[in-house]
Amino acid sequence: MVKVRCKLVSWDEVVEWCRQLSLKIKESGWSPDTIVAIARGGYVPARLLCDFLDIHELLSVQVLHWGKAAEITAKAHVKYPLKVNLSGKKVLLVDDIADTGDSIIVAKEHLESECKPSEIKVATMQWISPVCKIKPDYYVDEVKEWIWYQYPWTRLEDTTQFITKMLDEEGKKKKEWTLEEIVEKFKEWYGIDVGKSYYELALEILVGEGKLKKRTRDREVVYEL
Ligand code: ADP
Repeated sequence: MVKVRCKLVSWDEVVEWCRQLSLKIKESGWSPDTIVAIARGGYVPARLLCDFLDIHELLSVQVLHWGKAAEITAKAHVKYPLKVNLSGKKVLLVDDIADTGDSIIVAKEHLESECKPSEIKVATMQWISPVCKIKPDYYVDEVKEWIWYQYPWTRLEDTTQFITKMLDEEGKKKKEWTLEEIVEKFKEWYGIDVGKSYYELALEILVGEGKLKKRTRDREVVYEL
């Protein structure tokens, strides 16, 4: 049974969603002067929107969240202040997905107070409507049931974290794993297949960090917890 609901997103889907997003923006009659990408998730969609909307000004603001372990004190904050004057400009603030909405709210408030644009509108590809504190001005998909979008730009990062989480749990019963066993269990847990090269790269990282040991057993490579 799947433990974390995931959707494996292809590059083609991202391009198509951004094309659709750009059409919605054009059809609304509003036209931004500048795009601000929320780093890091908003980078690729923001760049594609620049292309589809013929916008040449692209800036970025990075918002960080505390990690999972520090969830109790979780608070989104701007990493490096964006000290630019955007007075008189219409700004499109772009992120990949609006989930809790915290990063978008923090980025928007920061732009309003630091950069003073005439207007800010928000665009994301996905909007998780039941949990999100805001509704983006433009979005492509309204997601009614929470799911993890496995975007292509976080594939290795996600795979590494997903394997860690899975082996933390499954490792209580089983200490040695072949690559094939890890792949099978990954598909069972997450319901997606990221492809052999990503499993191998993720395992290399975990071996490098000392979280797994790689050794040979009966001429077969195994990963030991
Ligand atoms: P926001 O909802 O304002 O984007 P979050 O703090 O909830 O802020 O999310 C921060 C970032 O984490 C998102 O911009 C996205 O890159 C990533 N993220 C959050 N939720 C998901 C999800 N369900 N699927 C994929 N990526 C996500």
